[in-house]
Amino acid sequence: MQSEEIRKRFLSFFEKRGHIVIPSASLVPENDSSVLFNTAGMQPLVPYLMGYPHPQGKRLVNVQKCVRTQDIEEVGDKTHDTFFEMLGNWSLGDYFKDDAIKWSFELLTSKEEGFGLDPNRLYITVFGGNDDAPKDQESFDIWKKYMPENRIYFLTWNGKKEPNWWDAGENGPCGPDTEMFYDTTPEGLGDMTKEEYLAADDRQDVVEIWNDVFMEYEKRDGKVVGKLQQKNVDTGSGLERITMAIQGKDNIFDTDLFSSAIKVLSNVPSPDIRSLRIIADHIRTSVFMIADGVVPSNTDRGYVLRRLLRRAYVHARKVDAETETLNTVAEVIIENPSYKGLYNFGQETRSVVMNEIEKFKITLESGLKQVEKGADPFTLFTSYGFPFELTEEIANEKGVVLDRTKFEQEMKRHQELSRAGGQKKFKGGLAGHGEMEVKYHTATHLLHGALREVLGKEVFQKGSNITSERLRFDFSFTRKMTEEERSKVEELVNEKIRESLPVTYQDLPLEEAQKLGAIGLFEEKYGDKVRVYRIGDFSLELCGGPHVESTGVLGKFKIVKEEAVSTGVRRIKAVLE
Ligand SMILES: [Zn+2]
Repeated sequence: MQSEEIRKRFLSFFEKRGHIVIPSASLVPENDSSVLFNTAGMQPLVPYLMGYPHPQGKRLVNVQKCVRTQDIEEVGDKTHDTFFEMLGNWSLGDYFKDDAIKWSFELLTSKEEGFGLDPNRLYITVFGGNDDAPKDQESFDIWKKYMPENRIYFLTWNGKKEPNWWDAGENGPCGPDTEMFYDTTPEGLGDMTKEEYLAADDRQDVVEIWNDVFMEYEKRDGKVVGKLQQKNVDTGSGLERITMAIQGKDNIFDTDLFSSAIKVLSNVPSPDIRSLRIIADHIRTSVFMIADGVVPSNTDRGYVLRRLLRRAYVHARKVDAETETLNTVAEVIIENPSYKGLYNFGQETRSVVMNEIEKFKITLESGLKQVEKGADPFTLFTSYGFPFELTEEIANEKGVVLDRTKFEQEMKRHQELSRAGGQKKFKGGLAGHGEMEVKYHTATHLLHGALREVLGKEVFQKGSNITSERLRFDFSFTRKMTEEERSKVEELVNEKIRESLPVTYQDLPLEEAQKLGAIGLFEEKYGDKVRVYRIGDFSLELCGGPHVESTGVLGKFKIVKEEAVSTGVRRIKAVLE
């Protein structure tokens, strides 16, 4: 069964059961500025899941385009990708667990109407209970009508992740879910104990192919406070994974969703399978983003797109692919029969892809010179997106051996910082601080750091004034900056923006902050705690905030003026473009 048939069968299965087919929303969320892309089929439906009546009724079904890039490093294994289509059906205060579970089972296993999967390869998990809510006995009992009891597992907190529970944060609907897994091994795993099943899950021998979320509880301030008036069902499945199960493949790249792109790529001189998958995935995601109006840039969505295209090119270079091959990959993906929009703008989409790649080739050449000069592989990763393997390969040609352990330690630290940066919301709130002001303020930290690096450690901040149009930064220095110094400072700030460094803070005793080398006005008394903001390894400064969470959103930094204010004090005016 081809993926196009899978989409059609899915939609008509639920249409026959009273659901209205709604079109996929754009990848770019319309009214939600908290996320860059739609990451799940339910996302555009959140207002309706919260109780707002949907104009099309209480039973909905669709195939939604989604982008998730959190797991970008995992792409190339069996199941991870950055663009995917999500099949989903919803009950907004209508049917509940009985019908949802029955239909999930029928859809997956029915040869006539559904996907015709082998029920002997199915495994079911249900919510095992915790402090918030009791175990979901009801779902377990319903499942027993369709599945042998020993293939249904109650899952509880196992020290890694909270299984089988869904919520949207501290407030709002939440509830247990039931997940369906499929055995993709050639011989079949047969009956398994819970422990054996969990081990099979770790090995990716079973993959999640369907998920029914039952929104029946309400959370307030992080606590479950009772049952909801309107109970909803939200189901979902990644088309790529279900297609893999239906087509009997053990990875998504062997399905017809990817196979034409992989085929084009398999003719390259050094066809490393992981790189081929990364190229196919990233080009695919890029063309869908471009078709939905995203253009490459240094901020937000444009930056995600830029990273994907750069990474695709780096891997293309690794497998010795011609640049033109990437154009062909984009072309075969654009020929997707399910997305007429992609096809109609195919020519324009391909020029955006190829222009960006041609531009990056030039950046890459300067990056390669850095490798030859022996630059640190971690810096190359953060500034040029060079995978360690690529840097290592080029270094090896020069007879240089790189320290992988050190690289991995730095990566781990980088990821921990990013995570911390992502979690910490500015406590004081952003009221009274516009988005641009916050960006400009964060940019002054980078400017301060860059000035100290280019002009010397005698440079200190003397004053700062910010509007939504520009920043103004006064600092101690005795003479006019040269043209060269100006452009060096500018370039250094822009480099740190491109590195997308996490901005994090810590509250430390004053003495400790000083010991760490934090800069800023130390007005506190000894023993006081001070707040120290860190931007990657580049800047450590006493400050109260607010700041952006990652420098990647700042845009292009440009100095427009450098002048004297008084003896020994200079002033810079700069803008973000
Ligand atoms: Zn600050």
